[in-house]
Amino acid sequence: MNSKIHASSFDEVIDKFYPETIKKTRQRIDIFKVLYSASQPLSAAEIFNALNKNGAKETYAFSTVYRNLLAFEKAGVVVKSVLSTEDNAVYELKRETHRHYAVCLKCHTKIPIKACPLHDIAHDLEGTIPDFQVTGHQLEIYGYCASCREAAPVPVSLS
Ligand SMILES: [Zn+2]
Ligand SMILES: [Zn+2]
Repeated sequence: MNSKIHASSFDEVIDKFYPETIKKTRQRIDIFKVLYSASQPLSAAEIFNALNKNGAKETYAFSTVYRNLLAFEKAGVVVKSVLSTEDNAVYELKRETHRHYAVCLKCHTKIPIKACPLHDIAHDLEGTIPDFQVTGHQLEIYGYCASCREAAPVPVSLS
């Protein structure tokens, strides 16, 4: 995870990107910073850990982090996904264009997939489902990243 937080530049980020629809609290701003600087979706526990290191002046209870993530999710600021490689849901900031990830089964690194391969398919499908409006979808690609590949088990051949 790379989530280096530079205090000065982040005031600007918050001014620019923090949604006006959500009441600003110090905790929420801190959580927003962690999500903003993360290169991949994070679990509530990872966000909690990121908040409580970096010589944090204030320590946050896990329940507080979780509650604020729910508030962000409700407000449409954060997208929550459930990946089969993770025990817990992961969160990321909602972007103009959504992202999918290739997930490493061993180290759980999440590599963004450049384009959404499902966009057109989801649109076409909508027309085939009577009286249904498609608002989103999930896609999970999994396998092994470069550093884990050597250690990966050879698939059993069922011939
Ligand atoms: Zn890996
Ligand atoms: Zn998609």
